Amino acid sequence: VSYSSDVLIVGAGIGGLSLALRLAAKGYRVRIIQQREPARVYRPEIIQPAGLLAYEELGLLSNLMARRAARVNLFHFHRIGGDRLCRVDYRLLHHPHPYALITLPHQTRRVLMDGLGRYPAVTIHWDAEFRDVLRRGSRVVGVKAVEHDREQEFCAAVTVGSDGSKSRLRDALGIGCRLKRYANGFLSVLVKSIHAHGEDGMPHVRYYLGEGEILGIFPTSSTTLCLLYMVPTLHLDTLNGERLAEVKQRIASIEPWLNGSLNAPGAWERQSRLAPVQARVSSWAVDGAALIGDAAHACHPHIAQGSFQAMEDGRILADVLDGCFAKGDFSARALAPYEETRRPVIERLQRLANEYAWLWETKNPLLVRLRDWVFRNIGNSPRLLYKVAATEAGIDSRPLTVVDRLQALGICA
Ligand SMILES: Cc1cc2nc3c(=O)[nH]c(=O)nc-3n(C[C@H](O)[C@H](O)[C@H](O)COP(=O)(O)OP(=O)(O)OC[C@H]3O[C@@H](n4cnc5c(N)ncnc54)[C@H](O)[C@@H]3O)c2cc1C
Repeated sequence: VSYSSDVLIVGAGIGGLSLALRLAAKGYRVRIIQQREPARVYRPEIIQPAGLLAYEELGLLSNLMARRAARVNLFHFHRIGGDRLCRVDYRLLHHPHPYALITLPHQTRRVLMDGLGRYPAVTIHWDAEFRDVLRRGSRVVGVKAVEHDREQEFCAAVTVGSDGSKSRLRDALGIGCRLKRYANGFLSVLVKSIHAHGEDGMPHVRYYLGEGEILGIFPTSSTTLCLLYMVPTLHLDTLNGERLAEVKQRIASIEPWLNGSLNAPGAWERQSRLAPVQARVSSWAVDGAALIGDAAHACHPHIAQGSFQAMEDGRILADVLDGCFAKGDFSARALAPYEETRRPVIERLQRLANEYAWLWETKNPLLVRLRDWVFRNIGNSPRLLYKVAATEAGIDSRPLTVVDRLQALGICA
């Protein structure tokens, strides 16, 4: 059997599903292939204000708001064993949605899949794993995949790789990729708790920063919290038994009110171990194919915008594809405006995320003092606080200016 469609998408993550929605709304026939469902990931999925706008544009905001999630507008940064360093307040943002929604990744995926239910022209092939690309001359014309143990051909005018940071499609396309692995990863645990609220009765996010130590506490519904605790990547897979008990104790010593939740029966059953990577690829498009989301540009999660940026790729690529279909031209040159629009934004975010990882995670005592100093300076400057909130919220992608940096360092007022 061979299947055909206008667009073939490899990977039904946030990027692939949201692109399918945009293309279906324009009237294209879309197929998505998705390998056997991976294990459920327990980690906070922060949907930034700009991301909320993207869901609104797709007509899915009310569905998203109806999911188990926490609406958060305050992000506190504390020194472990010390005082508060600064507080980022989304309520100050000039934006229709001045708050973030925090949920779990499977919830957002569900919302997009429900949205796709409106479009019979989209077919998702579950349990279909990408194996190789099909070419005519140098042009990609589809892929080979194994669906329920049988090899099938999926042909399309254009193929989109949305298969995540370790993209096999990217390799098969011969696109060069520098994959940066970070020294630290995260143990993420979902616990039951009703103590996440701040003095205003709303759930807040809390980051605790120490010397080479980070604990993040994220409400993910009115009764659950996701705890992210930084762990050297090398130890992520072997963190069991006594060492896990030590981590539990350590978290409880940073925030004693978590003790009950951490020691409740079954509290550690819903956990994931996550090793962030950054992907920098030589090209986002070749003749007949393009990459989106983590396949094109995985980014360190300290900026918490990976899913939103994958959706943004879909928004721009869908418009560029309109032009390609109009001309019947799916060459790398015809697809180039997609990369030209998106790459500069993404490279700025990747640089910023690396700066965050370097400064937030440092164990060098001098750098720790510098970091705390920078956080306090930001906290004392309404202008910088706005800039930081707008950047995190995904609504201002301009880089920090020299003046911003000098002000954060306390060198100028
Ligand atoms: C610790 C951590 C915290 C994060 N927090 C946030 C956050 O708060 N907010 C946010 O916006 N982002 C966050 N991110 C980033 C976010 O997870 C990613 O950027 C986002 O999931 C990228 O979506 P994607 O669709 O490009 O890729 P993915 O979500 O990786 O989806 C790829 C899909 O392709 C499928 N696939 C892979 N290979 C094949 C194959 N051979 N054949 C068929 N299918 C295949 C996979 O099974 C998967 O379904 C975080 C990341 C980490 C590591």
